[in-house]
Amino acid sequence: MSRVAISRVLTPPDEDKVFDAVKKAIDKLGGIERFIKPGEKVLIKPNLVSPRPPPVTTDPRVVRAITLLVKEAKAKPIIAESASAMTYWWREGMTTRQVMELLGYIDMARSIGVEITPFDEDGKFRSVKVKIPNGILIKEIEIAELITKVDKIIGVPVLKTSMEGGGITGCIKLMHGVTNTFTDRLRWHRSDLWYKIVDEIRPFRDKYVLCVFDAIKCMEGDGPIHGDPVDMNLIIAGDDPVATDAIAAKIIGYEYPHYEIGPIAIAHVTGLGVGDPANIEVVGEKLENVRRRFRFASCEIVESYFPGVHVIDGATCRTCKAWIKFTLYMLKDTGFFEDLKKMGKKLYFFVGLNTPIPQDLDRIRELMDKGLVIIFGECAVSTTGRELYWVLAQGELRDGVMLIHGCPPFAVSEYAAEIRRKLGLEITEREVEAFKYVPT
Ligand code: SF4
Repeated sequence: MSRVAISRVLTPPDEDKVFDAVKKAIDKLGGIERFIKPGEKVLIKPNLVSPRPPPVTTDPRVVRAITLLVKEAKAKPIIAESASAMTYWWREGMTTRQVMELLGYIDMARSIGVEITPFDEDGKFRSVKVKIPNGILIKEIEIAELITKVDKIIGVPVLKTSMEGGGITGCIKLMHGVTNTFTDRLRWHRSDLWYKIVDEIRPFRDKYVLCVFDAIKCMEGDGPIHGDPVDMNLIIAGDDPVATDAIAAKIIGYEYPHYEIGPIAIAHVTGLGVGDPANIEVVGEKLENVRRRFRFASCEIVESYFPGVHVIDGATCRTCKAWIKFTLYMLKDTGFFEDLKKMGKKLYFFVGLNTPIPQDLDRIRELMDKGLVIIFGECAVSTTGRELYWVLAQGELRDGVMLIHGCPPFAVSEYAAEIRRKLGLEITEREVEAFKYVPT
């Protein structure tokens, strides 16, 4: 039977209290020695998806505590992670090392004398190709070379909801970060991502022996980046990534069989772990004493939350909607919607296959008078191209339309900046700071 331990972090949480809670949870599972043998190389992988502090990223104090326990077990800990390619190219424009520096990971590792390494440096990901014999969707994967060289892996996700990643981003989704940031990882961000992230852990599932959720400051709503913080002050550790995700999901309000959390459901039915809480032993704090219903993430775009935004759907998968939402959140952070209201303008997003964009020039002109027309994603661009050719051929109309390629389109900073420019709004220090990377 899989086992998951829950411990409370005494407040206000400091390094010692976090260490005590992490140790308590791992001790309830049988102690670090149950998982790690002397002399083994142990990869400890946090979630550093973006250069933003917890709850967007894993609290370095949790990683510090695990690393110290691994050292006490006379094994060799290596902290490693890659920031996403979106972070590197299209959002904040930062390398993984810069992200680690900014979040305090480099200082933390130095202070306890352990190795910390990005999977990627200088725009190159050190990866190897590995076969996935039982892969449902993918049969080969480019993963960090380090994964093939370590004896054990400990995953340290932060408990947060996720729009695109499947309900929550937990122990399964965390390992998306070991795939090559610049190749597989990008291409796989489509609506079948849930299957792919389960396939991704198959080649090293045997080594993935321990998971420790940082559930100190968590995230609800539109995670994994734009949700709201929730103080839970918990550590949730487990000897099975699927079971640990299942219990974490139950704590925040999801129930078995987890149809809304594809990765848990798929991993459970394909034998990668136990997703049914009825077959998971929970030790430490009682589950019913720590439960708190979170607001879940959603890819749907509601106008009341983004005033003046209209999404005109064709056959659209959730992924394009998620990336429209990432763009809108970036704009929202800068007070854009107040500006839009003052101008009396709208944003019209046409998205998906055969989205019903008006086909006569007068109706398109009418829309453009009211606001900016944005054709978002390859499905919409490819199936509305014939009509748009005639629009874009009219010189004075070009500025009223944005054609955004990609499946899905990732360059959210660029789109946010371009939307402002097209509407005649300045890019001030406020936007540069919020978008971090504004291409010129
Ligand atoms: S371009 Fe089409 S398939 Fe690709 S993410 Fe957008 S809606 Fe989905």
